[in-house]
Parts: sequence; structure tokens; C-alpha cells
Amino acid sequence: KRQKLAQLRHINSLANDYFRNVFKYHNTAARARLYLAERGLSQETLENFQVGFALPNWDSLLKFMNKQGYRPQAVAEAGLALKNENGRYYDRFRERVIFPIWDVTGRVIGFGGRVINDTTPKYLNSPETVLFSKGHLLYGLHLARRSIKEKGYVIIMEGYMDVVTAHRYGITNAVASLGTSLTREQGRLIINYSRNVVIAYDSDAAGVAATLRGLELLQEIGCQVRVVNIPDGKDPDDFLRRHGYQAWENLIEQALSLIEYRLRQAIGNKPVRTVSGKLEVMRQVFPSIAGIKSDIEREESLKIISRFLSSSPEAVTAEFKRFEANLG
Ligand code: ATP
Ligand code: MN
Ligand code: MN
Ligand code: MN
Repeated sequence: KRQKLAQLRHINSLANDYFRNVFKYHNTAARARLYLAERGLSQETLENFQVGFALPNWDSLLKFMNKQGYRPQAVAEAGLALKNENGRYYDRFRERVIFPIWDVTGRVIGFGGRVINDTTPKYLNSPETVLFSKGHLLYGLHLARRSIKEKGYVIIMEGYMDVVTAHRYGITNAVASLGTSLTREQGRLIINYSRNVVIAYDSDAAGVAATLRGLELLQEIGCQVRVVNIPDGKDPDDFLRRHGYQAWENLIEQALSLIEYRLRQAIGNKPVRTVSGKLEVMRQVFPSIAGIKSDIEREESLKIISRFLSSSPEAVTAEFKRFEANLG
């Protein structure tokens, strides 16, 4: 068992070296190098994130691994090869830019691969293995953990490119949940480093839905959460490249607290004038208030609600008490 784990680690590590070498030196990787240069990645960033490339062939990695003494079956167990109906093995990652994924100590445990054209799926990840469980890791955490402690907060983004670009701009406390739904395990991982969390998900519909789910979860485990609202349905990578660091800092400063974000979602932009409208908004946001552990925080949140609705804090508090009583 132990030996198996060591073997999985070794295969991942060898594959990482292989993909990186292909990216740097292989002729066929020229398009990938150009693609990432056009997306603004410098040599330093490519090194820092150990970016690689998988060739278009069906068995480049398998051949390399064979030379290293690893049979196709072992490569498949590491999630890097698949078997077709005829029992033949082939490389999982082909013609993709490769982003290695590390554990907190910086050991490679899996990979993500992005196409460099418009084919789908856009991203492909290693399958779940003993080493690699997507819901239990945060991309870039080993690069970010010192900075998270220094800056006193962590920024959680959606994707590889968001984190890569963030680090390139000196925003080194950024990590990604890789996909949209944050898990409890990822939340627990975070609070080892900081309980102050800023969520900076894509501002498209999927990102907003995931943000709301993530908020509840993080609040439940005792995090102080704020939400960055990136304009125009963009993601942090798009925003940073278009508007730069200072504009990003402004976004962070304007990040909404959890309750403000919920209110904004419930209300939209128009003021709420009618009594029934106000009651409806309260009905939508009270469940989230009920989840707040700290009394002071809960009181603050109720004040914010009263301000948003132009009602007195006393009235809103009374409504909340009634809501809670009906719950229990
Ligand atoms: P890019 O900027 O390179 O186009 P992105 O990170 O903005 O990519 P999104 O569509 O916003 O791409 O997806 C966010 C993240 O979700 C990705 O970085 C990836 O980790 C994950 N993801 C997206 N599509 C897939 C997929 N088809 N399979 C697995 N994971 C995916
Ligand atoms: Mn997205
Ligand atoms: Mn993007
Ligand atoms: Mn995105």
C-alpha cells in the first residue's frame, strides 16, 4: 500500500518533469508557448507554476514512462492513461497546456489540462485517485500560504488562470477551488491559514450561484466572508489584464460583506418601498442571518438590513426574532 502510494507520487513527479520539458523545448509545443505568451504569462510565471504541455500523440507519455520502467497499467492507475475497448492504453492528456496541481507541501498530485483551441472540454483534470481528490485541495495553496498569513486574508477564485494571473500581479494570497462549488473540506483547509476569506468567483450565473453556496458553507465553519463583484460577467484573470492592479485593489476594498451580498442578490438595484416587498426580502436573507454564530456580527447584519430597507433596526430585529421563533 505504502509502496503503491510512493509509486503514484513518483509517476506524477516524472510526468510533471516530462510535460515541462516538452513545453519548453519541443517544436510541437510552439503553439502552446505562443498561446500562453499571448495571455501574458512571463518565463518567471511559467516556471513558478511549472506549466507543461502534452503532445497531440496518443502515447507520448506512455512511451516516456515505459523508458522510466513504468508499465501502462501503472500510468493508468496514476490517472495519466486510459484503456480503450481493445485493451490498448492511451494518454489521458493530449494537446493540452498542463497545470500541475500540488498538495500543501508542493508535491504534485494531479494535473489539469487546457486546450489551446476551441475544442471541448476546455479543461480536463486527473481523475480521483488515492492521491488526488479535487474537493480536498485548493490550487496554488502551497504558493500562497505564506502570503495568506502575512496579508491576513485569502482570496478564493475559480480557475487556474485566475490564480496564475493574480500571482503575476503580486496578488500572492490567491487560490482556486477549481470549478465552481466550494466544499467543506476546502473550507477547513483554508482556516488553517486564515478565517478572513474573500470570494472572487466569475461574475457569470454559475459563479454567482456557487458564490452563494460557498458563503453559507464558509460562514458555518466560522469564517468572515466578503465577496468581490467583478463587473461585466468577467473573471479575475480578465479583469486584471484589462484594468490592472490598482483597479483590483479598489474592487477588494469595495468587497461586500456576506449580508450585503445577499441583500443585493435579493433586492437588485431598485429600492424596496412596499411592506410586502420588505417582508419578502427579509424572508430571503434571514436564513443566512440565523447561521451567524457571533451575536455582534448578527446585530451588525440586522442593522445593515434595516438600512437597505429603510426600516428601523428595532423593527427588523423584532421581525428576525419572530422568524427565529417560527424556526424552532
Ligand atoms: P480560461 O480563462 O482559460 O478560459 P477559466 O478558468 O476562466 O478558463 P471557467 O470556464 O471560468 O474557465 O472555469 C473555471 C474553472 O473551472 C477552470 O479553471 C477549471 O478548473 C474548471 N473547469 C472549467 N471547465 C471544466 C471542465 N470542462 N472540466 C473540469 N473542470 C473545468
Ligand atoms: Mn466560470
Ligand atoms: Mn478565464
Ligand atoms: Mn473563468
